[in-house]
Amino acid sequence: MKIHEYQAKEILRQYDVPTPRGIACFSADEAEAAAQTLGGGVWVVKAQIHAGGRGKGGGVKVAKSLQEVTENAGKILGMQLITHQTGRDGQKVRRLLIEEGANIVQEYYVGMVVDRSKQRVVLMASSEGGMDIEEVAARAPEKIHKLWIDPAEGLLEADADAISGKIGLPQSVYPQSRACLRGLYRAFVEKDAMLAEINPLALTADQRVIALDAKINFDSNALYRHPEIVAYRDLDEEDPAEIEASKFDLSYISLDGNIGCLVNGAGLAMATMDIIKLYGGSPANFLDVGGGASKEKVAEAFKLMLKNPSLSAILVNIFGGIMKCDVIAEGVVAAAREVHLKVPLIVRLEGTNVELGKKILVESGLAITSANNMADAAQKVVAAAKGGN
Ligand code: ADP
Ligand code: MG
Repeated sequence: MKIHEYQAKEILRQYDVPTPRGIACFSADEAEAAAQTLGGGVWVVKAQIHAGGRGKGGGVKVAKSLQEVTENAGKILGMQLITHQTGRDGQKVRRLLIEEGANIVQEYYVGMVVDRSKQRVVLMASSEGGMDIEEVAARAPEKIHKLWIDPAEGLLEADADAISGKIGLPQSVYPQSRACLRGLYRAFVEKDAMLAEINPLALTADQRVIALDAKINFDSNALYRHPEIVAYRDLDEEDPAEIEASKFDLSYISLDGNIGCLVNGAGLAMATMDIIKLYGGSPANFLDVGGGASKEKVAEAFKLMLKNPSLSAILVNIFGGIMKCDVIAEGVVAAAREVHLKVPLIVRLEGTNVELGKKILVESGLAITSANNMADAAQKVVAAAKGGN
């Protein structure tokens, strides 16, 4: 799960990571009031969306008067902000963060993720902060320093200082950078994060080390023990189809192809997408209806896929183990009738009650193409999506 920058900063403050003072707001008037409350002479108006690269996209603006704050807030609020992380259409800005402007001398990158192969959290740090870290990783990987943290020991002071040295922070600020790194690590572990980034971590003219940006992604499987994080959820930032899917306990991920996939089991769903690709097609979604789906759940899954305007064919690929093929067939038929299905539908059923399932499909009178195995199904659906059916 993702949260906004201002929310990530609220969390980091609880772990003694210094951040600029800031106030989240929803209108230009609120922005002006926020700047007045913060005081000082320089403010930064920052679009709050669940994507990075906002600065380059025009979503982060410095203001040197209250009037500029109001103007920038007016411009940024409601804009369709396009960054390298939003996709072509961008993301509509509905919230702002007004914060005090820092006088930056140097920008650094620090981030943490779980390194599964090492079974540890890896701290990554670089002198090349503020910009795209992916770009630094590609162009100058030697500029990213890594430290794998022993979970029993945590991030040791000496290790934190060694990293500060490697990225070129002056020794006089090590106590501050140490607090930032150790705070980030404690937040990461205690909040069950999957990724935590401060980019940039800034050194200011008055020799302070401060987190100017913050990003934290959380492990959804651990959210049950963090109601305070669930409360940060912003549905405006999430894919409506994925929100709808979560209501029915369906694992659904929108993709940019045109072949809808309805599959039981995550492994089979992945294999189905692979084989569609192998035969030259492109999946419109990942959809795992789960092991024991009811007829109603299948129907909901079906409707969800059909909401996608790019959809040009559907492949239902079911291996009936716990799930019975006849239940799936009934769900598919009910949904196809309800939505007056207009795109070609290819169904591959195998396993428990397969004959009964196929009979239900045939007797439905609907234009459903049966497939005998995965390769056959993939070829048929790819041809159908191209209009060859
Ligand atoms: P993004 O990573 O989405 O572009 P950031 O929060 O990192 O957004 O902001 C982009 C840049 O704007 C930063 O690299 C920094 O140079 C500048 N910036 C951000 N916040 C402040 C601030 N409070 N004071 C001064 N400069 C800032
Ligand atoms: Mg940033």
